[in-house]
Amino acid sequence: MEEIIKELKSIRAEIAEHNRRYYVEDAPSVSDYEYDMLMRRLKEIEKEHPELITPDSPTQRVGGQALTAFESVRHEIPMDSLQDVFSKEELADFDARVKEVVPDAEYAVELKIDGLSVSVEYENGYLVRGVTRGDGITGEDVTQNIKTIKSLPLYIENAPRRLIIRGEVYMPRETFYRLNEEREVRGETLFANPRNAAAGSLRQLDPKLCAERSLDIIIFNVQLAEGVEFETHAESLAYLAKLGFRVSPYCNVFSSVDDAFAEVERLGNMRDSLAFQIDGAVLKVNRISQRPMLGATAKFPKWAAAYKYPPEQKQTKLLDIILQVGRTGVLTPNAVLEPVHISGVTVSRATLHNRDFIKERDIMIGDTVIVQKAGDIIPEIVGVVKEKRPHDARAFEMPEVCPVCGSPVFSEDGEAAVRCVNSECPAQRIRNIVHFASRDAMDVDGLGPAVVEQLVAGELIRDAADLYSLKPEQIEKIDRMGKKSAANLITAIEKTKENDLSRLLFALGIRHVGQKAGKTLAEHFGSLDAVMNASEDELCTIDDIGQVVASSIKRWFSLPDSHELIEKLRAAGVNMEFKGEKKGTAFAGQTFVLTGALTKFTRSEAEEKIEKLGGKASSSVSKKTTYVVAGENAGSKLKKANELGITVLTEDEFLQMLDEV
Ligand code: NAD
Repeated sequence: MEEIIKELKSIRAEIAEHNRRYYVEDAPSVSDYEYDMLMRRLKEIEKEHPELITPDSPTQRVGGQALTAFESVRHEIPMDSLQDVFSKEELADFDARVKEVVPDAEYAVELKIDGLSVSVEYENGYLVRGVTRGDGITGEDVTQNIKTIKSLPLYIENAPRRLIIRGEVYMPRETFYRLNEEREVRGETLFANPRNAAAGSLRQLDPKLCAERSLDIIIFNVQLAEGVEFETHAESLAYLAKLGFRVSPYCNVFSSVDDAFAEVERLGNMRDSLAFQIDGAVLKVNRISQRPMLGATAKFPKWAAAYKYPPEQKQTKLLDIILQVGRTGVLTPNAVLEPVHISGVTVSRATLHNRDFIKERDIMIGDTVIVQKAGDIIPEIVGVVKEKRPHDARAFEMPEVCPVCGSPVFSEDGEAAVRCVNSECPAQRIRNIVHFASRDAMDVDGLGPAVVEQLVAGELIRDAADLYSLKPEQIEKIDRMGKKSAANLITAIEKTKENDLSRLLFALGIRHVGQKAGKTLAEHFGSLDAVMNASEDELCTIDDIGQVVASSIKRWFSLPDSHELIEKLRAAGVNMEFKGEKKGTAFAGQTFVLTGALTKFTRSEAEEKIEKLGGKASSSVSKKTTYVVAGENAGSKLKKANELGITVLTEDEFLQMLDEV
């Protein structure tokens, strides 16, 4: 028993960590299939030992929590999840359970789109709210971002007074590939799959950034349509289509489970030709009046099931391991594979991450390896077929010098990554400039990696600041660059001189300073010089800037090369000031929790005010909370604040505090 309790604890902790990475950070570290298998093991144990089920077990809740950055909204109609089936046998079991209660049940079979679920509400035909699923009970209000989805009507004719629909927001494959290519060029972490990319985009605080990601939506359910009744699911989809929504394509109805399974397989075979990613097919009892007879568990309805396709695996030969030098100098080993067709694409490269990854999996050049491409678009090497290892297989050795510039490489203590630290390394120069010019940084239209490579190779530029002294005649000499494109490029470069400081800070390529940190620093300090002169301690006092980031910033500004770059940019006339409203400091270092009903402003208005004054708004009370602002009917948070001895303010006291700063 002790062993079981131990396993239970460790699986729960592991799943909780995967959930956090998946739902909160949009950056999973295992494939969905591996996750599903882990969950399945947990369910098995809990089935055998129901006495060990705890309310906080991952089997007891749906999805992730709502992020505090958005206002949380309680769903009028809870947004359930689906039960999983992984084989024909499991599907037959599901069918048997359904038919026992409803012998004449028919199934509507449709695609299971791999995105994130949202509910969208219309009042008198107007789109008034879009909310993520969250934990199924409460989600995040992402209305502004939802409105950037072009296929979703903002107004519909002949709509019922109230209409709530549910759909899946997704990122089309093409957009996903493009986004990841851009991220790779900039040396940023890649999104593991379109689902995480979509979730990350829908939660951008700036709707403009979300709009750039061209998300789309497919509607698959009517949650509520006042005054309208449907007999079947298929009928409700036809109704939505008539109102002007993009609904689940290929929704067909079958009475036998064998036919339904054949459809599941047919849809599975189509998956590579679709413009979006699917991870399964969904079977739903079609007749709506039959559904209540089957009922639901706390997590999912018993009248529906998601058939999940297994990830496709293939064997192929590892021909070589080559190294790529990234923007931060990291040497990444890449597998060169005998091309293999898998999940609709030809795979001939896969990342091997770092030397530890290769060692742990005992991968040798010449080996036959197993390549997997789950719904997750990036192919991965999951193992080696040891029996097929040839005599002449070679172990991989990390070189001691950079393959591009020949200078010695280093690895920091405890780090798996090996780096070239030569700032003159052309590989790094090129990537730094490409990053500087990229869309989220300075946004120089038309300056991609191919052009930068030629400009560097032709010794026309050595760093990003040199872009500003380029002459059209020089650019024209480059491959496929005519007079017109050269002139356009010069105009695009000129335009960036007016960019805001937040873009420049991100564009400089300081390790750990992403787009968000760039914005935070710009808002806080107001000018590049102020950031440069700030002490490490001062940097650390800013929310979201931790010790590691602060020392990375200090280190970067202390390098002579950085000084030279900044002075050249200054001389070229690049703006180094923050153009927005500067953040106040009155609430710096203070954390506020708002609870109960506020009457003088909405919660998000109050949060905005706190943040504008440099404070932090949090949703849970802990020892770190400075003040709890309690509105009417405040409940458990107020109680906790009193227990912890935290200062509680009434709404009026809070208002007075705002007045005084
Ligand atoms: P789910 O993805 O298994 O199924 C439910 C969801 O399917 C619904 O919320 C809905 O959004 C979606 N859906 C798409 N098309 C649909 C249609 N036509 N009809 C009805 N629903 C449709 O369940 P979940 O709770 O959203 O997510 C859990 C899954 O997420 C896991 O099974 C796992 O695959 C993945 N996950 C992975 C990790 C990881 O670390 N890799 C971590 C957490 C969760």
